[in-house]
Amino acid sequence: MNKDYLNEKSLDPDDWDAFNKLLHKVSDDLVEYLKNVGERPVWKSLPEESKELFDESLPRTGTEYAKVYDEVKKHILPYPTNNIHPRFWSWVGGTGTPSQLIADMIISAMNSGSLGLDETASTYVEIQLLDWLKVLLDYPADSSGLLVSGGSMANLVGLAVARTNAAKYDVRNDGIDIKNNSRLIYYSSTETHSCIRKAIELLGLGSESLKLIPVNDDYTINLDLLNRAIESDIKDGNTPACIIANVGTVNTGAIDPLIELSKIAKKQNIWLHSDGAFGAITKLAKNSKHLVEGMELSDSIAFDLHKWMYIQYDCGCVLIKGGAPHKETFSVIPPYIKNFERGLASGPINFSEYGVQLSRSFKALRAWMALKIEGSDKFGELVQQNINQAKYLTDLVIKNQHLEILSPTSLNIVTFRYINKKIDENLINDFNAELLMRLHETGEHAPSSALLNGIFSIRVAITNHRSRLNDFNKLVDDVVIIGNDMLKDYI
Ligand SMILES: *Cc1c(COP(=O)(O)O)cnc(C)c1O
Repeated sequence: MNKDYLNEKSLDPDDWDAFNKLLHKVSDDLVEYLKNVGERPVWKSLPEESKELFDESLPRTGTEYAKVYDEVKKHILPYPTNNIHPRFWSWVGGTGTPSQLIADMIISAMNSGSLGLDETASTYVEIQLLDWLKVLLDYPADSSGLLVSGGSMANLVGLAVARTNAAKYDVRNDGIDIKNNSRLIYYSSTETHSCIRKAIELLGLGSESLKLIPVNDDYTINLDLLNRAIESDIKDGNTPACIIANVGTVNTGAIDPLIELSKIAKKQNIWLHSDGAFGAITKLAKNSKHLVEGMELSDSIAFDLHKWMYIQYDCGCVLIKGGAPHKETFSVIPPYIKNFERGLASGPINFSEYGVQLSRSFKALRAWMALKIEGSDKFGELVQQNINQAKYLTDLVIKNQHLEILSPTSLNIVTFRYINKKIDENLINDFNAELLMRLHETGEHAPSSALLNGIFSIRVAITNHRSRLNDFNKLVDDVVIIGNDMLKDYI
C-alpha cells in the first residue's frame, strides 16, 4: 500500500484533555471579559505592536492552540468594536447577551448546515423560532420566514419577492426588461437605509427605479408627495411595485405612518414592505407597541435580531405574508438537495427555497435559547427601558444651554449638537465632528453621527441593555466639558 494511505490526518486535537483545559480557561477569561466590560474604555485604537500581527504572512505550518490563544488574548480581544459596552451607542450596535455564549459553543460543536431539508433538531429550532417571532410581531402564523445575515439581506429578500409579485412577466426567466415592459418602481423616503438602494441595484432594477420621497419635519415620509409620485408613474406607464415603509429610520428613528401607507398600498395594489431593522422590535414593548401599529399590515417585514433583540451577530429575519410569492421567487431544487420521504433528507422545509443562501450556520439556537432563558417579556421591558432612556437623554439635552436637540425623539435615537453663538456658522459642523472624535478618544463614550438637513449631529442610538441613566448624565457632562474646552480654538 502507498505510504500516504497510512498517514491519515484529521483536525481533531491530539490531546483532548489539554484541549478541554484550554477551553475552560477561555471560558473563565470570557466571563471576566463580559463581567468587567464597563470598566474598560469603550474604544481604544490598536497599538503598533498588535497591528504587526496582521502583517504576518500565511502560516504554512501550525502553532499550538494555547500559543495562538495567547496572541488572540493579547492583540485581538482587547480591541473590539465594543458594542457590548454600556456607553456604546454608535450606528445601531447590538449588545448581545452572556447567555448566548453557551449557545455559541453548542452551535460550533454541532456545526449544523441548517438546510431545513435535513430531518434534524436544528431545522425544528429555526421553524419554532420563526413562529415565535411571528407571534411577537403580530404577524400571521401562515407567513413564511427565514433567518438571514441581517437587515440588508432581509430587505433584499423582501424586495425580491415584491419584484416577482409586481412583474407582469416571468422576471426570473426573462430578467428585467424595460424595453418591452414597464419599469417597476419602488418608493421610500429620503431617510431610507442605503441597503435598500443596494438591493434594488442587485435585483437588476437600477437605482432609477427607487423613488426617494421627501420627508416631513419629523423625518417621516411625506404622503402627499408619495401619492403624487405614484400617480405620475401610472400616467407615465410605469408600474408602481413596492412601497418601503421605514419602521425606525437609521438617522433619527422616525416611523413612517404605517396605517396610511398600507391604505395607499392597498388602494393602488402595491406591495408594502417594512424595513424594521431595529424599530420592528418596538412591538415587544407593551407600552410602546402602538408606535408601530400597522406594521403587521405590510406584505413583508425585514428586521434584525442582532440590533434591538440583543442577539449576537449576525442574525436578521424576513417574514412574508402568504408564503407562495416567497417560494416562487427563490425556489430552485436540483436533485442533490431534494427531499426524501425518509432518512436524513426528510426534513419539513427546504430553507433554500426562501432566500439566497443554501448552507447557513445554526444561528437560530442563539435566539431560541435567549428567548427561553430570558422570556420574551424581559426583552420587551428592555426595549421600553431604552425608549425611556432616550426620553431622559432628550430632556437633559433640552435643559442644557450648551446643547441643541436636532430631531424629535420618537423611539430610541437622540440627535443633538453643541452650540455657542460665538462659533462661526460655517464651522459649527466641523466643531461638532471634532467634538465627537475627542469624545471617542476619551474612551468614555461611543455615539456616532448623522447629517440632518446638512447639520452634523451627535447621534445616540440606544439598543443597549447595559446602559444606565447615569451613563447619559455622564455623556451630557462630558460633551459640555469638551465643547467648552474647544471654544478657545474656534472663536
Ligand atoms: C441596520 C439597518 C439596516 C441594515 O441591517 P444590517 O443588519 O446592518 O444588514 C437596514 N435598515 C435600517 C433602518 C437599519 O438600521
